Amino acid sequence: MDFKKIPMGTDHPIEVKLKWAHLLFDNCSKELLSDATVVRLLEEYKESIASNWEKMAETGVVDECTRCALQDGGSCCGSGIENKFDVVNLLINLLLGVKLPSRPWDSTGCWFLGEKGCLITARHVICVNFMCRRLYDRLSPEAIKKVQHAMQEETERAFILEEYIKMWLARNE
Ligand code: SF4
Repeated sequence: MDFKKIPMGTDHPIEVKLKWAHLLFDNCSKELLSDATVVRLLEEYKESIASNWEKMAETGVVDECTRCALQDGGSCCGSGIENKFDVVNLLINLLLGVKLPSRPWDSTGCWFLGEKGCLITARHVICVNFMCRRLYDRLSPEAIKKVQHAMQEETERAFILEEYIKMWLARNE
């Protein structure tokens, strides 16, 4: 497989990036998942994602976001956010066992939004870090600090894994 052809930035339609992510997964997932560093970084990333969801539940973020979406018609997951993803972000989701949708469930929402919320595990840094005014107003300063710490941990782990996979692809060109 010619890795040089992979569209590496975000500046391509999501359908093209999804096609490349699947191609990469089909051609390289066995080798990637035999690399001890990839396995360790994926594990650490998964732990940080779980820990962030735990903190969001503990601090009331999950409840507040659910109330906003179900009672007040709010949604942070608008159409176009999927364009922020690059091929490596999508490949990481596939490595984590996520089934990436081939079309959006709701044309006004993000491509990865399902009926019950986000369908993917490795969310974009924009999704992970976003805290709206409502959350700042309703959460205690301690809760905000706790959840921000967990968000930061998740985005750092994602960054380390993404950079390693990019290096791996460059090395194996
Ligand atoms: S990736 Fe998930 S969390 Fe981010 S905007 Fe799309 S549906 Fe929402």
